Amino acid sequence: MRGGGHTSDRSTAPLLGAGSVLRLIRDGEAVTRADLARRTGLARSTVAQRVDALLAHELVYEAGGSSSTGGRPPTILAFNQLAGVVLAADLGATHSRVAVSDLAGAPLAELALDMDISAGPEAVLDLVSERFEELLRQVDRTAADVRGIGIGVPGPVAFATGQPVNPPIMPGWDGFSLPRWFSTRYDAPVLVDNDVNIMALGEHWSHWRDTDHLLFIKVGTGIGCGIVAGRLIHRGAQGAAGDIGHIRVPGNEDVLCRCGNVGCLEAVAGGGALAVQLRAVGLEAENSRDVVRLVRAGEPQAARMVREAGRALGRVLAGSVNFFNPAVIILGGDLGAAHEQLLAGVREVIFERSLPLATRDLRTEPSRLGDRAGVVGAAIMVIEHVLAPDVIDRALQSGVAA
Ligand SMILES: [Zn+2]
Repeated sequence: MRGGGHTSDRSTAPLLGAGSVLRLIRDGEAVTRADLARRTGLARSTVAQRVDALLAHELVYEAGGSSSTGGRPPTILAFNQLAGVVLAADLGATHSRVAVSDLAGAPLAELALDMDISAGPEAVLDLVSERFEELLRQVDRTAADVRGIGIGVPGPVAFATGQPVNPPIMPGWDGFSLPRWFSTRYDAPVLVDNDVNIMALGEHWSHWRDTDHLLFIKVGTGIGCGIVAGRLIHRGAQGAAGDIGHIRVPGNEDVLCRCGNVGCLEAVAGGGALAVQLRAVGLEAENSRDVVRLVRAGEPQAARMVREAGRALGRVLAGSVNFFNPAVIILGGDLGAAHEQLLAGVREVIFERSLPLATRDLRTEPSRLGDRAGVVGAAIMVIEHVLAPDVIDRALQSGVAA
């Protein structure tokens, strides 16, 4: 079912419990008992035990015989992606997306909603929780089927505890424990991360799984960067890695940023800054979406400003390209919808200013998931956690399914 490369650790030794066996089956790397024995080096009787445990917990099922070998065909084992569901939410400043997905990350039901993150955690999470219940009803599931919850928020997060840390546009959320809030409603782990990180994860997992090093740039009202290094999300010591929005763009010392500094990338090239510039020339624009609307309508001033924003972004990214040497840079976020102009500006500067070796095979691409990147990534984040070999082993030992 899941073929080819993936983000997880491929090594099966020394973890050779049922969880590792499940991983091999999920990845399609070994799907018969004989393959599993060869691949793990475990005795066939041990493999049989592991598979029996997975069958008993309905995490795998027998999908019929393989026709490729002579004689009685061995039974093919398949991951039961309907063994439960996960809930995912990508919370933005003013609009959000929530979904219920199966355990392979396929969305079963999804909806977008307008809500203001600055209304505070209780009000926002009440709304999100109502939508979760609505989606579960739609797909005929209950809270008991929920194996995990993944949430992305528009601010820095202490990933280990699921608490936002001094989020500038989220008043009332500082230190608020999302896992504790959900614990009264669901008996399932809750993982929380910065929205740009889950977008990077969603895009990487869906379209770039064989790429080791990738940057995902979200250009909306703010500008942030999700970093995939060695196929894993790199968060940094304080969860602040990739906060490129406040790197200074030379030549903009007269532009004041909301953070108190001058010349920040976000204040020069963010959607809010572009809307201000467009209003200054007499066009109607309140936010990044209006900027995109004007570009799409063929408004030349809007197209020119977005291309110039791409150049400013390119000036900051040129340094990141030299420093990090990514294989791919993905542009997403609201302004990613105007990617022709944005990417043109980015490419112009990056290829001029970065080292030739760093840009030799560098690809710059628009997000393919678009405004779904975050909610897909939030689901994948929690699926990879609840199906991790050690988590499965513990769950099976305690007699609870996944
Ligand atoms: Zn700033």
